[in-house]
Amino acid sequence: MGEFELIQHYFAAHATARADVELGIGDDCALLNVPAGECLAVSTDTLVSDVHFFADVDPVALGHKALAVNLSDLAAMGAQPRWVSLALTLPNTNEAWLAGFAQGFHALAAQHHVALIGGDTTRGPLSITVSIKGTVPAAQALRRSGAKVGDHIYVSGRLGAAALAVQQRLHHLSIDAAALQLCRHRMEYPQPRCELGLALRDIASSALDLSDGLAGDLMHILRASNVAAEIELTDLPVDPAVRQSVTPEQSLQLALGGGDDYELCFTAPAEQENTIQNLAKTLELPLTRIGSIITGAPEIFWYHHGNSVELHINGWEHFHHGETGKTS
Ligand code: ADP
Ligand code: MG
Repeated sequence: MGEFELIQHYFAAHATARADVELGIGDDCALLNVPAGECLAVSTDTLVSDVHFFADVDPVALGHKALAVNLSDLAAMGAQPRWVSLALTLPNTNEAWLAGFAQGFHALAAQHHVALIGGDTTRGPLSITVSIKGTVPAAQALRRSGAKVGDHIYVSGRLGAAALAVQQRLHHLSIDAAALQLCRHRMEYPQPRCELGLALRDIASSALDLSDGLAGDLMHILRASNVAAEIELTDLPVDPAVRQSVTPEQSLQLALGGGDDYELCFTAPAEQENTIQNLAKTLELPLTRIGSIITGAPEIFWYHHGNSVELHINGWEHFHHGETGKTS
């Protein structure tokens, strides 16, 4: 199968159709109709084999994840997803692998009504670059710089499960088979919070998506907004599968220093509390208040049951095999 047949068969033939695509795959450029009065929101992410994913990962999961991490960036900006392009570098033409990858990619694209409008296909070590395009009115975009003193800080969903799956894979922690399955699913099939991002346009003062762990990611908001934060550790929505599998200390490390959650962290004025809890019910997605924005240079102050505590986030590389009785 040549390059053109491959693109046609696996990608062009299954692309979601959208009325705002003037011209899709097949010409030198795609032509897209950007709605008047809105900004084009663009984000690109590359996934490299053995760096961002295990080389033997299920290609269906990889196709999903390559698009999911990009959609997550649009969600964090409050942007409406519209179009996506895909640059694939492949070591060979493995048709079973391509079929799986395309299946995972197109399924999520259809779910979010995103049209694949072009890309590039080259030969080389396996690497996937996705560039996503959405739109948002400039005044409604959820920037990292909008957090204000007195705002509440929230996270969506549950944290730490994907990071635990990575640690299990790297260090062979012995965790319960059912918990491991849940964590693996969170690692392989992150769910971009696009609906939440859109709903937060008129509610949140700032937002970002959690890709590297809450402790580090929240600092991006604090630096951009030039404010500090206080966080109550007992309020963190640690995934139950994590809580039951490792020590409380390791749970915190995974929830704060692990990565790959792809949940949203956002700030909102205190008076939005009821609106946010109603939104959580509508979306059937936990939205947990974990702390407040306070005045000061960018820094996080940690509390445990209201008492100030020192916290050293190890980051996942240091989450060693055999540190506690729970590891094998
Ligand atoms: P050019 O050489 O002009 O860049 P290509 O041969 O790379 O054109 O691509 C032909 C068409 O197929 C273009 O419209 C391009 O956007 C699209 N395309 C290439 N690879 C992919 C892919 N992996 N997924 C979707 N579209 C692709
Ligand atoms: Mg090209």
